[in-house]
Amino acid sequence: MAGQTNAFEMAQQQFDHVAGLLRLDPQVAEILRWPMREFHFRIPVRMDDGSIRIFEGFRVQHNDARGPNKGGIRFHPAETVDTVRALAFWMTWKCATADLPLGGGKGGVIVDPATLSTSEKERLCRGYIDVMWRNLGPRIDVPAPDVGTTPQMMGWMMDEYSKLVGQYTPGVITGKPLGGGGSLGRTEATGYGVIYAVREAMRHLGMDPAKSVAAIQGFGNVAQYAAIGFTEMLGGKVVCVSYWDRDDKCSYTVSKPDGINPRFLMSITDQYGSINKAKASAEGYSIEDGSEWIGKEADVLIPAALEGQINGETVRRVHPRVRLVAEGANGPTTPEADEVFNKNGVFVIPDFLCNAGGVTVSYFESVQNDMNYYWTKEETLSRLDTKMTIAFHGVLDMSLKENTCMRDAAYMVAIDRVVKAMQLRGWV
Ligand code: GLU
Repeated sequence: MAGQTNAFEMAQQQFDHVAGLLRLDPQVAEILRWPMREFHFRIPVRMDDGSIRIFEGFRVQHNDARGPNKGGIRFHPAETVDTVRALAFWMTWKCATADLPLGGGKGGVIVDPATLSTSEKERLCRGYIDVMWRNLGPRIDVPAPDVGTTPQMMGWMMDEYSKLVGQYTPGVITGKPLGGGGSLGRTEATGYGVIYAVREAMRHLGMDPAKSVAAIQGFGNVAQYAAIGFTEMLGGKVVCVSYWDRDDKCSYTVSKPDGINPRFLMSITDQYGSINKAKASAEGYSIEDGSEWIGKEADVLIPAALEGQINGETVRRVHPRVRLVAEGANGPTTPEADEVFNKNGVFVIPDFLCNAGGVTVSYFESVQNDMNYYWTKEETLSRLDTKMTIAFHGVLDMSLKENTCMRDAAYMVAIDRVVKAMQLRGWV
């Protein structure tokens, strides 16, 4: 999706490297290198002008040894089956690293949701479920939001599924709206989870959060709450965030050397991630074309947009002050860039550990749906903090024990858990 990077090839490369280190049985590795099931389908949607448009959709179920497949549905114009495969693959490792009793799945539709009216979006969401519902369910596969999808869309999907099966089934989808089966804290979960992991990493590295500066890529749901968490929970400073200009098809960076105010920027950002540039300039923000975020002088980089953003080429622009990279996005760093970070002693909190907060609260949401009893926001976030902290230290311990980088250590923890579940079930 991003530039030349094939996310699935990159994911398999990461896996093969760790499978080699672990001397994993080649037959077991062969099972895990590929998804167990894939669905490729076409969704006909009646548009507002009466015409019918066909959208291409995917759902990939990578591995469900530890529990139902779990993972978001992405609406993006550059979606490909390989991106969805990579994302499903990382979901298996993400759920295992966070020790959630879930497997890995992901879905996607090739569409720019900003080009659809509200009713067209609703028909597309319902159409997705009409095609897929037999292979979804609280004990089969549980979708959630991802890039380009929202709680409202999850609400429509849950409603469509419930109608088709003939009973209210909130546990089929997570990331639903509040009051419609959603959990308090789900909106903040991924970004805050990133910050809980950053807090633990800083403790380990002896960094003072209050004296730290972060540069963030993106300003969607993950970046927004990571920016709020970095400033309000850690007391640090965020110098920039970045946006994607849908019309000009290029990115731009919005910065302020004395620190951005994420809540103000959220108030002038629309639901599709575009900022009111005039209002930002009037408040003293600079707007630079291009991905200037990557070269900002900062201690922490938080890529929280799409995959493949820090690659062999862009990694050269990273400021030498950077000590910590916290991957809010899935797959933002290519293996080539990873090598440079490892060589330079940059501590990387890998994606499927760092951004596991979203799926963790999704899991809490399904637990609350099953109980039909809902927790307070404080209770949800404090359970999230506990889960993230335990997951972070599990991976850190492995990395210290095996003398590997955090990404390899996270794969080791996750592969071990998934293989154990496959053995216990008699699959291998
Ligand atoms: N799409 C999110 C992710 O990549 C959340 C998945 C979920 O909540 O199931 O982790």
